[in-house]
Amino acid sequence: MDLLTKDLLINFLFILLTLFLVQMVYLIKYAYRLEEIKKWVIGIFPVVSLILCMLLPVALEKGFVWDLRWIPFILGGLIGGFRLGILQLLLVLVIRYYQGHDVGFYVTAITFIFIGLLVFFLSKYYLQMNIKQKVALSIALIIFALFSSLFVSIHIFGVSLDSIFWVKYVTIHIIGMFISTLLWEVIQTNFQVLQKLVKAEKLQIVSHLAASISHEVRNPLTVSRGFIQMLYEGEATQARKEYANIALQELDRATEVINDYLTFAKPAFDIEENININEEVQHAVNIIIPLANMNGIQVKLSAVDHYYVAKGDRKKFQQCLINIMKNGIESMSNHGEIKIHLNYENSMIHINIQDEGIGMTQEQIDRLGEPFFTTKEKGTGLGMMVSFSIIKEMNGNIHVTSEHGEGTCFSIILPVYSVIDRMTQDNHFTKMG
Ligand code: ADP
Ligand code: MG
Repeated sequence: MDLLTKDLLINFLFILLTLFLVQMVYLIKYAYRLEEIKKWVIGIFPVVSLILCMLLPVALEKGFVWDLRWIPFILGGLIGGFRLGILQLLLVLVIRYYQGHDVGFYVTAITFIFIGLLVFFLSKYYLQMNIKQKVALSIALIIFALFSSLFVSIHIFGVSLDSIFWVKYVTIHIIGMFISTLLWEVIQTNFQVLQKLVKAEKLQIVSHLAASISHEVRNPLTVSRGFIQMLYEGEATQARKEYANIALQELDRATEVINDYLTFAKPAFDIEENININEEVQHAVNIIIPLANMNGIQVKLSAVDHYYVAKGDRKKFQQCLINIMKNGIESMSNHGEIKIHLNYENSMIHINIQDEGIGMTQEQIDRLGEPFFTTKEKGTGLGMMVSFSIIKEMNGNIHVTSEHGEGTCFSIILPVYSVIDRMTQDNHFTKMG
């Protein structure tokens, strides 16, 4: 193997090395729950390998610096978007400038700015692609980048290049890009699978625990509450009434926690009844309105001209709606609106519950439904866990979109078994099974 190829492979080692570094950071962040390690750590990978590649290039000859900087530059731009892209572009230009103010610098400046812009533009679409498309795009980009720099070198600056070296150079780039893109995706997927696994395991433990203790605890709670209520209403000094009041409040809170658990713990038999979605939503709104008004919040339910029927346990479904609406109210301070509207599409009903509250970060959305995940001082972190599992049991899905500081929209998506016209009560269709 010739020296140049060997040097390029060493360059590739830097890229692999930083990829593993990122995986390590991810694992540490997750294993120790370090919230302070933020999303931008992914920027370590492209930036460090970009710098290493450029500082330890293959050979400096004919005013050209040969290295694999295109790989971290393109991949980093696709993953990290605009800000990381700009940072990388500046790094490339500054480092290349200090390596020599020559032809190669101008070729670099022209091609990196041009390809950089293209990468920023494509990065919006990149994150939504599947793995095949991602690999295809990154390889297409690297080929395009290499050939545009070849074109600029030959046709604008009149440089002649050794063609055998050029072929090797392109081949190593393509293979390097392929492996890096794939590895990056594998690291990401591994990490997501790990997160899901831990979540599922926790959920199972909690549900076992819940089933075994919630019944035993609920009865004594109810009895104690009754007696304390009597103490409170009987003849007692002001101080004693105060104590009784506190005891009542705390008992109510305990009951609330238990209620969440109880619904979650699987009943001995699964109830499956027809649920009129419209009626249940209206019912949940009626229940929640006093709480909303107490906090100066309006609840608005848009009217629809059809009834939608789904299957499941009515009481559980109620609980799920109330949990979500309650969170909406708690996310707003003293004013605002909760808008609820139903949207029917492809035999699925979307129940959209939109608030104008504090919103959530992507990290919070990802953790939603995890047992005991709460950001509230007096929260239980059980409401969402219960709601998610209820909807899952009904073969539905909950989709959350949130804008930090703007508000959150919970969409409960459920399969509909029949649609009834409200005016004529005509049954439009009935799904079998
Ligand atoms: P709790 O309400 O007891 O905290 P939940 O399981 O109901 O537990 O909610 C978990 C967390 O999800 C909340 O602490 C909050 O951070 C977040 N959350 C849920 N719904 C909303 C919402 N509508 N707006 C903002 N954050 C929300
Ligand atoms: Mg809640």
